[in-house]
Amino acid sequence: MKSPQTIDCRAAATRLYEYLDGELTAEVEAAVRGHLADCAVCFRLFEFEEAYLAFLRARTQAKAAPAHLRRRVFETVLFDKDRTEPE
Ligand SMILES: [Zn+2]
Repeated sequence: MKSPQTIDCRAAATRLYEYLDGELTAEVEAAVRGHLADCAVCFRLFEFEEAYLAFLRARTQAKAAPAHLRRRVFETVLFDKDRTEPE
């Protein structure tokens, strides 16, 4: 049985998004995970990207949902544009 391959920071970084999307083979994923366990720098980078991706996904969903809200904002912007300073 082969011992899990070790990878460096660069190799880990290139696998970042595939890792977060769960698209790596079990072997490569284990190698990345092994590197993250040993490397605080990459661990923080991966953690940050994971949070950022989650944030993006949440935003994308929020954007699709409230169409009435977007319309209200749009109309507010339009009406505010026509309104002159109350003086
Ligand atoms: Zn590293």
